[in-house]
Amino acid sequence: MKKYQGKGVYGAVAIGKISLFKKNDTEVKRVHTEDIEGEKKRYEEAKSLAMQQLQEIYDKALKEVGNAHAAIFEIHQMMLDDDDYNDSVYNIIETQSINAEYAVAVTADNFAEMFSAMEDEYMKARAADVRDISNRLISNLLGNFTEKTNSDEKVVICASDLVPSETVSLDKDKVMAFVTAHGSSNSHTAILARNMNIPAIIGAGEDFLNGIKSGDEVIVDGYTGEIFVDPDEETRKRLIEKQRDDEEKKRLLEELKGKENVTLDGHKINVYANIGSVSDIGKVLVNDAGGIGLFRSEFLYLENSDYPTEEQQFSAYKKVLESMAGKKVIIRTLDIGADKKVDYFNLKPEENPALGYRAIRICLTRPEIFKTQLKALYRASVFGNLGIMFPMITSVSELEKILEICDAVKSELKSQDILYSESVELGIMIETPAAAVISDKLAPMVDFFSVGTNDLTQYTLACDRQNPDIEQFVNTHHEAVLRLIEMSAENAHKYGAWVGICGELGADTTLTETFLRMGIDELSVSPAFVLKVREAIRKTDLSKKQ
Ligand code: PEP
Ligand code: MG
Repeated sequence: MKKYQGKGVYGAVAIGKISLFKKNDTEVKRVHTEDIEGEKKRYEEAKSLAMQQLQEIYDKALKEVGNAHAAIFEIHQMMLDDDDYNDSVYNIIETQSINAEYAVAVTADNFAEMFSAMEDEYMKARAADVRDISNRLISNLLGNFTEKTNSDEKVVICASDLVPSETVSLDKDKVMAFVTAHGSSNSHTAILARNMNIPAIIGAGEDFLNGIKSGDEVIVDGYTGEIFVDPDEETRKRLIEKQRDDEEKKRLLEELKGKENVTLDGHKINVYANIGSVSDIGKVLVNDAGGIGLFRSEFLYLENSDYPTEEQQFSAYKKVLESMAGKKVIIRTLDIGADKKVDYFNLKPEENPALGYRAIRICLTRPEIFKTQLKALYRASVFGNLGIMFPMITSVSELEKILEICDAVKSELKSQDILYSESVELGIMIETPAAAVISDKLAPMVDFFSVGTNDLTQYTLACDRQNPDIEQFVNTHHEAVLRLIEMSAENAHKYGAWVGICGELGADTTLTETFLRMGIDELSVSPAFVLKVREAIRKTDLSKKQ
C-alpha cells in the first residue's frame, strides 16, 4: 500500500480505480526527414482517425445536448477537409522535408493568426477551432490520446491539475472522485468538484503522480485528504466503515427535507444552491434548496467552442427557471477571465489575471456579448422568478452603465413586442473590498447584494486564490473579511436591499450563527451542503447572548 496526503475539498470516501487524466498539450519537435511520402501517409491516417473521432463525438453530443451544441463538431470535420488547410500541411512537409506534426503545428499557427486578425467576430472565433482540430491531429500523429475510461466503470480521476474547461468536459457520470497533484482549495476546479458532490483532494504532490498508473486500486478520503493506493485489507475495512457512517449521516440529513430553515427562536433565512450548468438542477431539487442563489453562467461559455447564441442561452435559462417552478433563480452574468479562460474570447495573456480583464470589465467593453446575454435573460424571465446579478463590481459608475444597458435591452425587446417580466430583481456581487466599502452608495441602486467570499477573501487578504503555496496565509475567518460582510449587510438593509452570501464561506457551518446575527437573508451553497446548513440553522438560538 502507498499513502499520499493532499488537502480534502469535499468530504466523502470513494473506493475505485485510477484513471490518469492526460493533458492534450503536446510538445511538437521539428524533425528533418527524407521520407516525404511516408509523412504524408502518416498525416492522412491521422486525419482519417480525427474524422472518425469527430463523428463519434458529434453522435454523442447530438444525443446528449442536441443539435445546436453538436453542430460545432460538424464544422470541425469540414475544417479538417478544407483544401487550403490540407495543401498547407502537404506543402510544408514537401518544401521543408519535415515531420507531419510540425507541418500541422505551423499550419495551425498561420491559420489561427489569419482568423484572429479578421474583423468579423464569428471568423475571429474560428481561430480556436483551428487550434482544436490541429491539436487533435497532432495527438493522433503522436499516438497520444487522453486515456479513455472503461465505458461502464466509474473512476477516480487523477491529474496534475485541472482547469475549469477540462473539468466541465469530463463525463460526470463516470467520475467518482478527483485527485490533483496541484491546485488550491478555492479554485473553480475545487468548487466544481464540490458541486459534483464527489470526494475531491487537491495538492497531493508530484510524488503521487509519479507513483500511480491507470487501473491502480485507490481509496480517496475527502475528509482527511488521504489517498491510499493498493490499500491493505485493514485500511480498506476501516474506510468502507467510514463510507457507511457517511451514508448514515446523509440519511439523517435527508430527514430535514421539506423542513424550514428556521432557528430555535423562530428566525427564518433562505438557503439556496449554487450551480454551474442546467444539468445541476437535479441536485438542487434532490437536496431541497429553496432556490438558486448563483448560476455561474460562464460555464455555458466554457462548455461551448464558440459564443453561445441568444437562442442557446435563452433555452438554458428558460429550462432552469421552469424547473425551479417559481422559486427564485439568480443568474450571474458571465464571469470569464482569471482562471476561467475560453479560447474564442481571444484574451491576451496577463501578468495578474485576477486583477485583470475579466467579468463585468469584458461585458462593459464588449457590449455585444453582454447585450446578447441580457436579452436571453430577459426573454427567459417570463418563465419563472428571475434575479440577475453582476460580478466584480468596484464602482457606482460601472453599475450606472450596467443599469443603462439593462434599460436599453428592455426597450429593444419592447419595441419588438417580445415579452419580459417587469419584476426581475437586479443585484450585484460584493466580491471586491471597494464594493463593500461603498456599499452605502451601491445599495440604493439594486434589489440585492450577494457576497462572493471567494474573491472578497482573495482581494482583501491579497492572496491569489489559485496559488496553493499561500494557503497557509488565507484565514477565511479573517476579521477584515467578516467586517466587510457585516458592513455590506448593514448598508443593504438601510437602503431596502436584501443580502446573501454565495461564496464558499456560506457553507462553513462554524460561521452560520455569525451570519445570522449579521442579518444575512440568504445563504447559497453547493447543493450537497444545503441540508447541512439547514441543520446548523435549526440548531442556532439567536435569543441567547453571545
Ligand atoms: C465568489 O467569488 O465568492 C464567487 C461566488 O464567485 P466565483 O467563485 O465564481 O468567483
Ligand atoms: Mg467571484
